[in-house]
Amino acid sequence: MENMYVFYEGKIILESEVHISVRCKGFNYGLGCFEGIRAYWDETEKQLYVFRLREHYERLLQSCKVLYINIPYTVEELCQATIELLKKNNLQTTTYIRPVAFKGSNHVAPTLLDDDNRIVIYCQPMGNFTGKDELRAAFTSWERLGDNMLPPRTKPTAAYLNSALASLEVVSKGYDEALFLTRNGHVCEGPGENVFMVRNGKIITPPPSDNILEGITRDTVMRLARQELGIEVIERSITRTELYAADEVFFSGTAMEVVAVVEVDDRKIGNGHQGPVCRKLKELFFQVATSKIKAYSDFCTPVY
Ligand code: PMP
Repeated sequence: MENMYVFYEGKIILESEVHISVRCKGFNYGLGCFEGIRAYWDETEKQLYVFRLREHYERLLQSCKVLYINIPYTVEELCQATIELLKKNNLQTTTYIRPVAFKGSNHVAPTLLDDDNRIVIYCQPMGNFTGKDELRAAFTSWERLGDNMLPPRTKPTAAYLNSALASLEVVSKGYDEALFLTRNGHVCEGPGENVFMVRNGKIITPPPSDNILEGITRDTVMRLARQELGIEVIERSITRTELYAADEVFFSGTAMEVVAVVEVDDRKIGNGHQGPVCRKLKELFFQVATSKIKAYSDFCTPVY
């Protein structure tokens, strides 16, 4: 990817021209936060649509505020920089966009009280993240971080070590993805995605107070379920065995999109295959992401 363009220090430059010190605090201490955004390529229209671009940068700036990373750009400027970056890379395929805001200082103290705040935005083509349509998940023994530890709401770079430890544990045992519990034993989320269950015709998902990232795909799924499928969606705490007993379980996330979880801790969910609610939501999600449903065309920013 060295010959791709990135946005760095206010300019679009070649990735190979970015020089960040080994002493940089963002690297040494994980003093940063990030976003993951997708742009969907529509082959018939020959158009690339960025999905909920504004909302991602609103979330990034909210994270920056909480973490004392003062990025000198507005949401509008970051949206514009992203569009220009995608054009400059001439991307004509579904793409993942990664803005990272971080402390750039080389000073050895792990303090947030300095004013070397930087942002880099890079992108890369990305199709189906796991290459699978049905996942086998297992609960990890690592606990999800709390709001008073490393606030999950802010998508902090450092929190992904918690995610990586969870993935290491379950993937090395042959599962596709991990599930976290909170300290209170509530179902939380996956390492990089939110979780939903379907029970008795209702969709239930953990609330923000259970230390989840308030996912933008999660929000999209909740709206589509309510508005397009007329299904009641409830945000409330879920226990582990309730998930085992669910009719359907599925994940949502920018990279993961909407994908069925067909097994949890070696228990089949429903009949062990993608269920009808997940299938319908997934279909709707892809239609919305490529601007096929007028009511949601605001979610899609065309690049070309
Ligand atoms: N939880 C975590 C921990 C994540 O990293 C992500 C991916 N950003 C999500 C949930 C899903 O959020 P979104 O739908 O906004 O991508």
